[in-house]
Amino acid sequence: MSESSSRELLERLIGFATVSRDSNLELIAFIRDYLAGLGVECELFHNPERTKANLFATIGPRDRGGVVLSGHTDVVPVDGQSWTVEPFQLTEREGRLYGRGTADMKGFIASVLAAVPAFLGRPLTLPVHLAFSYDEEVGCLGVRPMLAELERRPHKPRLCLIGEPTELKPVLGHKGKLAVRCQVQGAACHSAYAPYGVNAIEYAARLIGKLGDIGAELARPERHDERFDPPFSTVQTGTIKGGRALNIVPAECEFDFEVRALPDFDARQVVDELQAYAETELAPRMRAVQPETGISLKPLSAYPGLATSPDSEAARLLALLSGSTEFGTVAFGTEGGLFEQAGIPTVVCGPGSMEQGHKPDEFISREQLAGCDAMLRRLALHLQGEGGSA
Ligand SMILES: [Zn+2]
Repeated sequence: MSESSSRELLERLIGFATVSRDSNLELIAFIRDYLAGLGVECELFHNPERTKANLFATIGPRDRGGVVLSGHTDVVPVDGQSWTVEPFQLTEREGRLYGRGTADMKGFIASVLAAVPAFLGRPLTLPVHLAFSYDEEVGCLGVRPMLAELERRPHKPRLCLIGEPTELKPVLGHKGKLAVRCQVQGAACHSAYAPYGVNAIEYAARLIGKLGDIGAELARPERHDERFDPPFSTVQTGTIKGGRALNIVPAECEFDFEVRALPDFDARQVVDELQAYAETELAPRMRAVQPETGISLKPLSAYPGLATSPDSEAARLLALLSGSTEFGTVAFGTEGGLFEQAGIPTVVCGPGSMEQGHKPDEFISREQLAGCDAMLRRLALHLQGEGGSA
């Protein structure tokens, strides 16, 4: 297979509508065939239903761990968004490449694939691993079985670079996230007899108020970490439903909330505190009226935060690749905390901007894509040279 540019590859990748709810297998087959054409074998890690897969490949020596280049293949939906271009077809206008996933984050994957011949053309002293996942956009779910497998290997990867869009700025951290559903089971009755029922909406309101109090505690100045914006952990209720008619005391109310936690804060503390409040303050009052009532909390999704040390080997490599030691953080999440938990130190740096991610008319500039190509050329040079001490 002849060499392809990152732009050509991006055009192919955007053509696969890999929205998280749908299969990514056609895209994975394309990448597998592309790599096979260059003589690179890959492993696939499927989901239990075999409708999606992660792809893992190694270029260079296999008797040691190297640098993972990580990206997710899924994209967020375009439903309800008004696009002025076809979202799953690459459109170029004035130096910008438009399409769903151009910034988040097929631009990076395209650039990595385009760099494969350059990696193959050098006697690498440390290998490069490609790790492309599914279901990142729905709670970093897909990558987990692949990481469980990598963690067990004798030559576990040494570092990981996640190419989420940071405009190629070096990023060492982000907050973690925990999403939770709270269900309040009350007891219905005619609203004229309201005290004989258990009003699920009113109890939900107390719980949401309590979350507000917990959030205010977390925002106290002594808990701030100025690397992040906002510089504290936050709690937010995002959806609520309950009630059927004004003249019925509502028996059910359900709301979803999330905790965006500083990397050193365990978001489960918020859930524990809410649970304790529900059990000691609210449930006894509810059950005094009607025993079959109660409050339940159920986690929906979670991923850990990331806070890589600026003195780490991973940060040194990132400085070399990005040409900057102005390390920052990002507001959005990545699979980075999961790589860290698997014992693989991780940094984030990729082309494009999350300003465009998840929006209609998402784009990446050709300049950013070229910048990523250049960054990967620097990586190839580095891994050939003193890479042994990366
Ligand atoms: Zn992303």
